[in-house]
Amino acid sequence: MAVHAHPDDESVGTGGTLARYAAEGVRVVVVTCTGGEHGEIVVPGMDTPENRARLGVIRAAELARALAVLGVREHAFLGYRDSGMMGRPENDAPDSFWRADPDEAAGRLVRLVRRYRPDVVTTYNAFGGYGHPDHIGAHRVAVAAFERAGDPARYPEQLSGPDTAEPWTPAKLYETAFTLRGRERVIARLLERGFRPWWVAPDDETPEQRAERETWLIEMERHTGPITTSVDVGDFLEMKLRALAEHVSQIAADHPFRALTVEEWREFAPAEEYTLRESRIGARIPEDDLFAGLR
Ligand SMILES: [Zn+2]
Repeated sequence: MAVHAHPDDESVGTGGTLARYAAEGVRVVVVTCTGGEHGEIVVPGMDTPENRARLGVIRAAELARALAVLGVREHAFLGYRDSGMMGRPENDAPDSFWRADPDEAAGRLVRLVRRYRPDVVTTYNAFGGYGHPDHIGAHRVAVAAFERAGDPARYPEQLSGPDTAEPWTPAKLYETAFTLRGRERVIARLLERGFRPWWVAPDDETPEQRAERETWLIEMERHTGPITTSVDVGDFLEMKLRALAEHVSQIAADHPFRALTVEEWREFAPAEEYTLRESRIGARIPEDDLFAGLR
């Protein structure tokens, strides 16, 4: 079970992993906490008031197509609204994920864990990878559900009635580890092609912008745990890039993720990397499989 914040995150962060395990016959479930209603529409012709108003519907369709490309057949929304970037007024909307009652939100995921009974759960680190409130929220609900789903004293109302589910204890909890170290070659290649990744300083950066960017980079690195697990996704990068391309409104053809070829991704980043945050079955690290010890 991969717990994500918005439609597209499943492909960006874990697309290769999902495709690989689906191809191996593992039952793969993606949970998306919000509808991504406040994403930026990157295609100029698509960025109309009508489309902004129905962006959740557009992104649900893009997500369904991306999951089909990855071979993932099971998906659930947690049912919250996108909170927008940190500090934006959308954070305070009453139905935003950021404003959700933490126990209620965790309870929704507990219900899904009890229904799907995953052995392995993946999420983001406590900084949400890069500080987006919905990614931080996804981390919090995943950690809480991992702890609570097996405890019959938590959310006992889920254990009786028409939608009955038994308590279930997943074995392992992972955080995706998106590190910027070792990415110099990716950056060099992108700059060669005229793309400037968001973590690289623009030429006209002011001292204030520089301070802000550097603080943010330090936070990002500080929250990234040790890489315990590298999942080889070399054979699934083509599917991952095709899945990314299905998120038409969010990831333009000139987006850095799509500016490199499959061969280049295979050379620069042939694995998706994780930090094993908790294991109830012991672990011998480093690992090359999220299901190590479970097969
Ligand atoms: Zn996201």
